Amino acid sequence: MNVQNKDSPIQVTRPLLPPLEEFYPYLQQIWDNQMLTNNGSFHQQLEQALCEYLGVRQVSLFTNGTIALLTALQALQLKGEVITTPYSFVATANALLWSGLKPVFVDIDPVTLNLDATLIEAAITPQTTALMPVHCYGYPCDVARIQEIADRHGLKVLYDAAHAFGVSADGGSVLNHGDLSVLSFHATKVFNTFEGGAIICHDAETKNHIDSLKNFGIVDEVTVTACGINGKMNEISAAFGLLQLKYYPCAKQKSQAIDARYRQGLAKVEGIHCVPGAEGGNYSYFPILVGSTYPLSRDALYQKLRAHDIYARRYFYPLISDFPMYREMAAALPVARKIAAQVICLPIYSELEPDWAERIIALIAGQDRC
Ligand SMILES: *Cc1c(COP(=O)(O)O)cnc(C)c1O
Repeated sequence: MNVQNKDSPIQVTRPLLPPLEEFYPYLQQIWDNQMLTNNGSFHQQLEQALCEYLGVRQVSLFTNGTIALLTALQALQLKGEVITTPYSFVATANALLWSGLKPVFVDIDPVTLNLDATLIEAAITPQTTALMPVHCYGYPCDVARIQEIADRHGLKVLYDAAHAFGVSADGGSVLNHGDLSVLSFHATKVFNTFEGGAIICHDAETKNHIDSLKNFGIVDEVTVTACGINGKMNEISAAFGLLQLKYYPCAKQKSQAIDARYRQGLAKVEGIHCVPGAEGGNYSYFPILVGSTYPLSRDALYQKLRAHDIYARRYFYPLISDFPMYREMAAALPVARKIAAQVICLPIYSELEPDWAERIIALIAGQDRC
């Protein structure tokens, strides 16, 4: 099962899929119990297992990361404006707009590519109620500075932590920062439940509120106290997450080896800059920046890789603020704009064969011409 199909293109990521035989007993148990969803036994077990593995206090599972973001925004009862990054997947800002909130885009830090904490205060207005940074590519935001700003201005902090599964910062999980953090378990993420997500919070009372919101606002058989939604994770997804969690640590190690190989192989290529990874990161993305001294443009390199069946991705280009729904909110975002024009994310996943990593390095280094 570990053999790369040499005839199909190399994608930027590939879902972690444990051996199918090992999933059958979980399915058998679901069929035996006839409990398909609504906080069944696998759902409860996965919440517990993730609390332990991630080192967080409370996990509430969701049907996907976007519904988890919407529910987190509801739970925080926000109004007005929320400061966020233009350099992310579009779901970050869509969750705000869908909730009737106005995204206010602030530029990013040129090194970490996260929301530049030094620019946040200038963007705060009387309408601002929260900050919504993203741990981009799993690189932790400047959590201490962000919290300090939030405290000074009475703002909530919601982290879009879709890339930050298992990421640690200052010795603990990065997910313990802010009021709430949201994970995505989409098939393209390092840990997946086909589709899925979670909200991480600090205490049981908040979790109960979130759990009620994801179940239509129901409290008990005769009591509904909030306008909730259906955001529940089903038992098949929860069971798959439990099985996958056994394989995740080993998969992460293999991705770490690929990360190291790329860094070494690309270090001397003129015009190519590997975006630094953080200690305690999860090796979920491998972004490079194509500079002006590289012989090809970013898009020409992207096309060249495609011509060799390597489907790298321009994450994150275009900027969210360039989509039509957000154009009127776009401020001057020079750093984000420059990075979006230079970035390519290279394939990285546990089953990427070393041969392919070598081929990708050789293509970028231009050694195919010799
Ligand atoms: C994947 C992703 C989401 C959305 O998660 P889904 O589970 O696909 O709904 C949100 N934000 C970021 C930054 C993402 O990468």
